[in-house]
Amino acid sequence: MRQPALELVIAALEKIRDTSNHAPRASRNALAQLLSIYSVAASLPGTPELCEGRRATCVSPKRPQPQQTASHKAEMLASVRERVCGCTKCAHLASSRTQTVFGVGNPDAEIMFIGEAPGADEDQQGEPFVGRAGQLLTKIIKAMGFAREDVYIANILKCRPDMPAGSFGNRAPTPAEMQTCRPYLVEQIDIIQPRVLVALGAVAVEGLLGARGTMRELRGRWHSYNGMPLMITYHPAYLLRNQSPSEKRKVWEDMMQVLERLEKPISEKQRNYFL
Ligand code: SF4
Repeated sequence: MRQPALELVIAALEKIRDTSNHAPRASRNALAQLLSIYSVAASLPGTPELCEGRRATCVSPKRPQPQQTASHKAEMLASVRERVCGCTKCAHLASSRTQTVFGVGNPDAEIMFIGEAPGADEDQQGEPFVGRAGQLLTKIIKAMGFAREDVYIANILKCRPDMPAGSFGNRAPTPAEMQTCRPYLVEQIDIIQPRVLVALGAVAVEGLLGARGTMRELRGRWHSYNGMPLMITYHPAYLLRNQSPSEKRKVWEDMMQVLERLEKPISEKQRNYFL
């Protein structure tokens, strides 16, 4: 069930965005408060349309508990996913896609990985990073000591970039396509509020920050997105093309910086990967 207060605000923000040059944004806290309005309404007498089960998941507006917060994050993400599913802002992508590819993982994740766009495998399966590059990302996540389900994975673009008829492979999203789709990712980040963001590849960086640069310049050091620590590293597809241990080591060193930032233990064995 959708939250009326949240829906009203989203509709108002979308109208501003569609009728002006402004790109309004709502913080996670603001969205959480709107959800809380719904929670308060659910607890008031005279609201027979709200079932007991739904009330049980409501959060106190004064002091949300961690588990309930995670539950609300999942609800908020579901609301964004619903809008993405029906999105036709890029008519050429909406008509060519098999389905939208929203994102996957823990709504309360500490780490959020951001790629550029779905490829053919992702378009077919409706999940980001499931092809060869995705399998390598999953290995990296496991090497860090996490399960894929512990983190959150999303792309800048939620639809596969279209390809000319009869051609194979994938293409990178255009700046215009990324600009159009970016608000959905911004909402995902605002809801999840990960402790660390990891951007995979220069295209993802351009989509997220609007800044171009070479990976040589960008990777391996901390950047910031809206006050959140942002690590930039190579896209796993790059490692599939360049299989030398030295390139793998660079990515692994970036991931060790992420682990240190999260104050996770790093074993001696982990420290020596790809040396
Ligand atoms: S790429 Fe994003 S903005 Fe464009 S149609 Fe797909 S979901 Fe909508």
